[in-house]
Amino acid sequence: MKSVKIGSVTIEWLGHSGFLLEGDEKKIYIDPYDLSEEPAFEDKADILLITHEHFDHCSPDDIRKVRRSDSTTLIPENISLQFKGDARRIAEGDVLADGLEIKGTRIEVVPAYNLDKSYHPRGLGVGYIVELGGIRIYHAGDCDFFPEMKNIRADVALLPIGGTYTMDEEEAASAAAAISPRDVIPMHYGKPDITDGDPEKFKALVHGKNPEINVIILDS
Ligand SMILES: [Zn+2]
Repeated sequence: MKSVKIGSVTIEWLGHSGFLLEGDEKKIYIDPYDLSEEPAFEDKADILLITHEHFDHCSPDDIRKVRRSDSTTLIPENISLQFKGDARRIAEGDVLADGLEIKGTRIEVVPAYNLDKSYHPRGLGVGYIVELGGIRIYHAGDCDFFPEMKNIRADVALLPIGGTYTMDEEEAASAAAAISPRDVIPMHYGKPDITDGDPEKFKALVHGKNPEINVIILDS
């Protein structure tokens, strides 16, 4: 299956780190990349979240496919790509709530960085926590299991498992155990030219640490 319904929210994996969250009558895209088709106009983004500037997360072709003139886009402040329309520069620590929420949706901007790799130094990118349909959905971006992740509260966690540029299965399983969400969905694997990663191995490792966490493996 490509998507899963959690409460009133539908979470669809678009492949790699790309997701479409649908709830509260809104469509929220995160890091669309290598989309097979352009969504119909009514299925395009109310909100688009970009985690960092790398080509497989901030892809101009795919951004063009999902954006409408009334889409609101959140982009890290250091991305050089210029956006027309409603695009807001954000940084880790920002909380879009209490008058700053985007189209009624509360969004928290959290850190995302590597510990023992040079690809994602702190400040390059971010992760997001989106509150939709009463649940908190955490998209980790490209990162390792950095210390602040232990403070993240989420009902659903979208975690990279590919290794090389991000956490591998083992590290991601430790991250899942620390966050302790109800559901976890692995991402950032399955594009052999970019990254490896075995979701079944991840699932077994998570259950070895905490059998209560539900691991959902989606098809891209
Ligand atoms: Zn990256």
